[in-house]
Amino acid sequence: MHAQAALRVTPLCVASNARGWMLRGVVRPRVSFAPVRRLGSSSFAGHRTINSKIFFRGTGLRAGSISAQRWNPPSMTVRRELSLSPVAVVAPSPAKTGADSELVKELGFEEVQEQFVDEYKSTATLYRHKKTGAEIMSVVNDDENKVFGIVFRTPPTDSTGIPHILEHSVLCGSRKYPLKEPFVELLKGSLQTFLNAFTYPDRTCYPVASTNLQDFYNLVDVYLDAVFYPRCVNDIHTFQQEGWHYELNDPAEDITFKGVVFNEMKGVYSQPDNVLGRVSQQASFPDNTYGVDSGGDPTVIPDLTFEQFKEFHSKFYHPSNARVWFYGDDDPNQRLRIISAYLDEFDNNAAAKESEVKVQPLFKEPKRVVEKYAVGDGAENARKHMVAINWVLSDTVLDPETELALGFLDHLMLGTPGSPLRKALMESGLGESIIGGGIEDELRQPQFSIGLKGVAEEDIPKVEELVFSTLKRLSEEGFSADAVEASMNTIEFSLRENNTGSFPRGLSLMLRSMGKWLYGLDPFEPLRFAKPLEHFKQRLQSEGVKGVFSPLIQNYIIDNPHRVTVELHPDAEKGKIDEMQEAERLAKVKASMTQEDLAELTRATEELRLKQETPDPPEALKAVPSLALSDIPKKSATVPIEVGSLKGSTVLRHDLFTNDVLYAEVAFDMRAVRPDLLPLVPLFCQSLLEMGTADLDFVQLSQLIGRKTGGISVYPSTSAVRGRTEPSSHIFIKGKAMAGQTADLFDLMRKVLQDVRFNDQGRFKQFVLQSKSRMEGRVSGGGHSVAAARLDGKLNTAGWISEQMGGLSYLEYLRDLEKRVDEDWPSVAESLNEIRNELLSRKGTIVNLTADERTLTNAESHVAAFLDAMPETGGNIVNWDRRLPLVNEGLVIPTQVNYVGKAGNIYDAGYKLDGSAYVIQKVIGTTWLWDRVRVVGGAYGGFCDFDSHSGVFTYLSYRDPNLVKTLDNYDATVQFLRQLEVHNDALTKAIIGTIGDVDSYQLPDAKGYSSMMRYIMGITDEERQQRREEILSTSVKDFHAFADALESVKEKGVIVAVASADDIAAANKERPGLLEVRKVL
Ligand SMILES: [Zn+2]
Repeated sequence: MHAQAALRVTPLCVASNARGWMLRGVVRPRVSFAPVRRLGSSSFAGHRTINSKIFFRGTGLRAGSISAQRWNPPSMTVRRELSLSPVAVVAPSPAKTGADSELVKELGFEEVQEQFVDEYKSTATLYRHKKTGAEIMSVVNDDENKVFGIVFRTPPTDSTGIPHILEHSVLCGSRKYPLKEPFVELLKGSLQTFLNAFTYPDRTCYPVASTNLQDFYNLVDVYLDAVFYPRCVNDIHTFQQEGWHYELNDPAEDITFKGVVFNEMKGVYSQPDNVLGRVSQQASFPDNTYGVDSGGDPTVIPDLTFEQFKEFHSKFYHPSNARVWFYGDDDPNQRLRIISAYLDEFDNNAAAKESEVKVQPLFKEPKRVVEKYAVGDGAENARKHMVAINWVLSDTVLDPETELALGFLDHLMLGTPGSPLRKALMESGLGESIIGGGIEDELRQPQFSIGLKGVAEEDIPKVEELVFSTLKRLSEEGFSADAVEASMNTIEFSLRENNTGSFPRGLSLMLRSMGKWLYGLDPFEPLRFAKPLEHFKQRLQSEGVKGVFSPLIQNYIIDNPHRVTVELHPDAEKGKIDEMQEAERLAKVKASMTQEDLAELTRATEELRLKQETPDPPEALKAVPSLALSDIPKKSATVPIEVGSLKGSTVLRHDLFTNDVLYAEVAFDMRAVRPDLLPLVPLFCQSLLEMGTADLDFVQLSQLIGRKTGGISVYPSTSAVRGRTEPSSHIFIKGKAMAGQTADLFDLMRKVLQDVRFNDQGRFKQFVLQSKSRMEGRVSGGGHSVAAARLDGKLNTAGWISEQMGGLSYLEYLRDLEKRVDEDWPSVAESLNEIRNELLSRKGTIVNLTADERTLTNAESHVAAFLDAMPETGGNIVNWDRRLPLVNEGLVIPTQVNYVGKAGNIYDAGYKLDGSAYVIQKVIGTTWLWDRVRVVGGAYGGFCDFDSHSGVFTYLSYRDPNLVKTLDNYDATVQFLRQLEVHNDALTKAIIGTIGDVDSYQLPDAKGYSSMMRYIMGITDEERQQRREEILSTSVKDFHAFADALESVKEKGVIVAVASADDIAAANKERPGLLEVRKVL
């Protein structure tokens, strides 16, 4: 396992979890970068929910993200203008029961325990399959978003990445579904609301979700067949493709390593935060499975043999080692029938014993580890050190109450920018941003980790001293009553709201339950919170804040000798050395080969490619179950919306059941802001929440937000509007509160907008450093999003604006701003005030409210008071018509893998929007680009995105070993579309999959938000219905027409590659003058 490993999902959701570990998954991305542009990293917000913390698991809450700021903006994007799930979230209703007891026996199960979980209005039953020992948790409730998951314990003993490669490989064909990638077929043609796989340091999870029952059963069957009967254990080609192989196209050339996981992990190992997470974890757990990397170390992956790979599967992918999860409103009897059909084919094996995760004994003495990470050359490097202090908190199982208390402690110390440990580190000026995610409890033993990055070497000891002195102070002084109340309200609100964003609620519960279940502990315990919370409140009453928290800080952290301090030093040579070592290793391999060997390797390379390029036979494709077009609702679902006006502003109301929560957004027209001030907007938004007013310092302000609301956030959002040159661009203030807190919510939103004073130079400097460091992390870990923003900035005004506030231009602006804050702070403060003065106005302002009718009506007077406080003047729109120069760029960063983008505006080339474009985009992504860029090319991801508002069509690759070859694949898309003969089945599948995307599942707040975005963009229900009909009637003709449109991208498209210096130089050598070179990191 490498540290990064908690779990890892799609290429685009490079969301790190609390410790900078990454989510790993096999899947292609849902492209979500450009459309509604948000502040910096929050475009990945939808995936944060996976992160698990004691008690906040699945709630999106975590240390390091002020709840008030980061709770998920709905992940639906305006790009999906047709979207909206057909069915709403259901109000709680009386309990259902588990399976019939007769059937349970008959199918060979025994009921271990049944509980009614009041917190989620669910009946949960744990069964044991008698013959194999497999365990099944069956959760029955009214949630239509059904979830299935099967989880195996897969602790590795080395860093060859076996669990990770297996996770990819089992989805490449199975007994009943003998095609190359049934998984991709499901992506193409299912209504799934979730489909992925994760590798943790000690387990592998295969979850699916759908609201359509037949679709759900189809997904479950494909997954069960895949894990128990995969073809990859009989076919070395899958192992080579997903894991690693030597590639040799011509005996005269050099041998290279190829493989999807191999390149994925090269990308992971190129990210400094991930390096730190991995080193910290391995050094903290030298004696158990967490001391190695389940994801795979690129230098060790090539040691893995096919034999070891097969053996690992047969041992651990066995019912005796399986935990199965069902959740939702489907029939509990049918669940047992489905699963028993698979389990009955196996006997018991010893895996359950062998896969137990051993406990790491606690150290007697603290340790220190110093490692290097690769950076580009530069004077900046002196301040690029990282330091983190890590503790393993216990070697015994903690009782639920201690866990809960530690969760609160974590939130109190780090949960918001005003939390004392976070504040002390940020204000120290010793580093740029905080690393280490506080308390992490997803693995066998809980850990605590905290540190800083962007530190000068000589300041490392000062960071350590500061951490200790702050902890000591907190242990001695405790926390203020206001702080405790704010944390309590934030956590309770979040538990009660259970808003998992676009992540299925049932999956969030599964991951939470698994944190105990996997280690043989009570799987029900993590599902309950009401009683422990009540009891905890009583303890706070009787023992006092200090009485509860001081012993925890003292015993688990300060006095705990199991401490590892990790220093990471920048090294401009390391990248080159790593590359040289790989080249030497491959040269040695080649030197050891005879002519015959080389000829054989060339043949094998060719054989693999041929196999990858040969399409699946139609019979095999038929094996994967799919819905029929008749199963698809013909009408697009609508959201209730009532448009009114109040005090000269527009008010939108959505009457939806929200369980007593009011969701509110106020949108101010950002087009009133002068273009040269735009890069300051993200920091303006941050300052509103983190600088304080005349009466309240920012700590008090953020505690007040925590105590009175479910959170407030402020962020900009910009999109092109079809048929208009002017973009739509707003700054949103967004908040939520229980219905009874409506007055407080609007009063606080007003305070944040009007009363905040931009007078804290020191804090503002920290914001700048923090944003700079975040942007640098984004360039090295998510180069595709930087490339996409850059391309968009060259092709339309909306893109230009977004790039100013979140792209490379933004990073460059921040580097200058750092100096300007020191040299001329008054002018910066003046600019912040100017933005506010230009922005705040009733004119053009939109208020959006989502709740039930009664709450909406009650809110009216509070909205009126809020609007009364806004000026009537201002809001004057200025001219923004700007673009980045239309040149191809090679952006140089220290990396082992590339991010390659190419884009063009197909509206300019005469293309007229038709719903078929969505289907075609999906087909290109899941067939042509998947096959060429990922399967054959070895990149972790290859995808395309069509912005139906601007007309910009973008190709992108992710963690890509190639550059020019990938561009050629993009260009060949035209040819692919022209020659494509789409079979009826394939077309139907693509149409259904597209409808699945369009009807993506949404919780009520997301529905209200989407409806507002459509209103803003002028998209009517009639237009959505028209697009839906166009999707449903897509024909081969449409593909050919689209090919003509893409011809213009091929001919006139612009290129941005985020890549290593060597690869950019090689590209320019092969195609002289291709890329204008620009060093970024
Ligand atoms: Zn992977």
